[in-house]
Amino acid sequence: MIYRLRISLFLFLFLCVSAPAADHLSNPLADSPNWKLLQKFQKTITHDEFERLLRGVYCTHGISEDFIRVDEKVACILMDRDAQSWFTLRFATSEAKAAAIPRWWRAARVLPKSKKAGPLSGLKIALDPGHIGGAWAKMEERWFKSGDAAPVEEGEMTLFVAKMLAEKLRALGARVSFVRDKTEPITPYRPNDFRETARAVLKAEGVENPPEDFQRPDDPSREQTVRWQSEILFYRTSEIRERARRVNSNLRPDVVLCLHFNAEAWGDERNPTLTDKNHLHLLVNGSYLPAELEPDDLRFEMLRRLLSRAFDEEIKIADVAALAVAKKSGLPAYEYTKDIVTKVGTSGYVYARNLAATRLYQCPVVYFEPYVMNSVDVFARVQAGDYEGTRIVNGIERPSIYREYVDGVVDGLVEYYRATR
Ligand SMILES: [Zn+2]
Repeated sequence: MIYRLRISLFLFLFLCVSAPAADHLSNPLADSPNWKLLQKFQKTITHDEFERLLRGVYCTHGISEDFIRVDEKVACILMDRDAQSWFTLRFATSEAKAAAIPRWWRAARVLPKSKKAGPLSGLKIALDPGHIGGAWAKMEERWFKSGDAAPVEEGEMTLFVAKMLAEKLRALGARVSFVRDKTEPITPYRPNDFRETARAVLKAEGVENPPEDFQRPDDPSREQTVRWQSEILFYRTSEIRERARRVNSNLRPDVVLCLHFNAEAWGDERNPTLTDKNHLHLLVNGSYLPAELEPDDLRFEMLRRLLSRAFDEEIKIADVAALAVAKKSGLPAYEYTKDIVTKVGTSGYVYARNLAATRLYQCPVVYFEPYVMNSVDVFARVQAGDYEGTRIVNGIERPSIYREYVDGVVDGLVEYYRATR
């Protein structure tokens, strides 16, 4: 399940504009872009390739000339709107003359071939079980409970899937690491560390003297309280940024698999709405909305991602993995009702979307969103728990939902790497 896009972006920009520093950042914890890091991408990409990725993947909702201008030989990207300074990216004159792309991760086609050691041998996979779970599940709004049934907690379920998946991937030769391996946050900060920042965010949104607390988890005015804002800065903004630091500085995998379960709006967490809808989709980074190209950090991170050419690898993995999970689960493709995504690839299940994790992890990232947790069927399967073999659950004989998820992902990876290495 994905965190909702927040509108606070513009208002935060407004706050930044009034501050003496010239950076226009998307959120209070964002890093100022270091544009010099893009120098190493000079002449690594042709004009046509750049245009293909820019228009077809990353800026599918249009680009203002105020931010990015593309010429025959160069692309110019706005660095500082006050100084009107621009970064100039020089294109390679041909594919053959393009300089090597600086990056740590390896695409499948450059991995050493190893017929004997298994299709995934030597492949470095980082597993990122979505959310935190445990004592934090209610705060994250990833918890509901229906009557006397056991609670449904996404952060616990994704960790269970990740642990089962790791065993199978290791048996196939992969070197597996965890971005999170327990139901505790990676970030050293806690909500109380963000109370002053939360007040500043609310002030920028025009909320003077915000209430400190809220009473009910489904109270719509909770978003204007210091507590809610400081909690979201903790479990979303700070936690995902800390996970990105771990991925980019320590783990340095060839691919990250972000593991989630989806949900439809369930309303009251203690009297949740169950639905008949159940579906599957996968996400890769892209589809930046025009407003998301305005903050300096997002524009920089978009460009860094485009130039790394992570898309060309992750879309191939995602397409094959999506079809494998669809085959195991029988789930239909999710169709977005809001125009914030762009369908990419060939499977019909994969969308480009600008999520923090898919943007900040500097390698291919495939983000799984199978199963609607509050569908009648998935709810029954979660209550059945994990088991070996098959059982009749909600009238259908099948494996546990966790094993089905794991087997789909494993099948997809094996098929992709076997065919490509
Ligand atoms: Zn999720």
